[in-house]
Amino acid sequence: MQSVSKIKEVREIIKDWKSGGFSIGFVATMGYLHNGHKSLIELARQQNDRVVVSVFVNPTQFGPNEDFAKYPRDIEHDWQICQEAGADLLFAPAAAEMYPDNNLAYIDLKELGDNLCGASRPGHFRGVCTVVGKLFNIITPDQAYFGQKDAQQLAIIKKMVKDLNFAVKIIACPIVREPDGLALSSRNAYLSTQQRQAALILSQSLQAAQELLLKGERDAQVIREFISEQIASEPLVKSDYIELVDSLTLKPVKNITAPILVAAAIYVGKTRLIDNFLFEEI
Ligand code: AMP
Repeated sequence: MQSVSKIKEVREIIKDWKSGGFSIGFVATMGYLHNGHKSLIELARQQNDRVVVSVFVNPTQFGPNEDFAKYPRDIEHDWQICQEAGADLLFAPAAAEMYPDNNLAYIDLKELGDNLCGASRPGHFRGVCTVVGKLFNIITPDQAYFGQKDAQQLAIIKKMVKDLNFAVKIIACPIVREPDGLALSSRNAYLSTQQRQAALILSQSLQAAQELLLKGERDAQVIREFISEQIASEPLVKSDYIELVDSLTLKPVKNITAPILVAAAIYVGKTRLIDNFLFEEI
């Protein structure tokens, strides 16, 4: 596996691969890789001739009071995971490489980024779309792999690709969980043992809500309140949002008549965790 930090080096390698007729799969990450990221890289490995993984903690998607400075980083471990999962190229640029002095161009999908995670993280999806757009232009992948774990991000990136005619196919990958149900996240590293236990209420309440839906409940407010009560029962946890939205437009639904996304975010101490499920059987 090659590892580079300059855009020019990536472009040279990609040019070489393209002239050989190789298809390119791409996984964008912020590093501190775990088995969730690994599952994306492994799927990309199965479906493409060459696989690129980026590791970049993107400053433009963090708010001023968020955890950019202390976001966990371990590039040697990331290298190891990429190698094990079969990646061909690890691209780990410095911030100045991705955002030279006077970066003025941003990609903003407006209202798609305003609710759910966007409500408590204003500007977050503008930063995400901008960096993913830049990475698509640098790597020019045929297929790019994104986790359903970040459901709003996935929906927004799909729309960005459509609206801006990026020549890449977006592949959605299932959420990878710990055996007890907690969705894998780099931010789980922030949790104490007690907080880790308390955080389970997120996946458990969503799982229970899914069962209510399967039993036939179709009133979004009932489901919302049910999840809210469950989360409120855990004293170490504070709810950020609980939403039932159309899985494409991300607009809130009242009566569940079409496929929806049920998404929630909680704070466990200062750590913000997200989880969701898609309900498609109507
Ligand atoms: P991040 O490093 O958090 O920006 O995540 C990079 C990619 O990995 C995104 O597409 C995430 O949705 C995906 N990802 C993160 N955690 C998981 C998980 N537990 N299961 C599946 N995909 C994940």
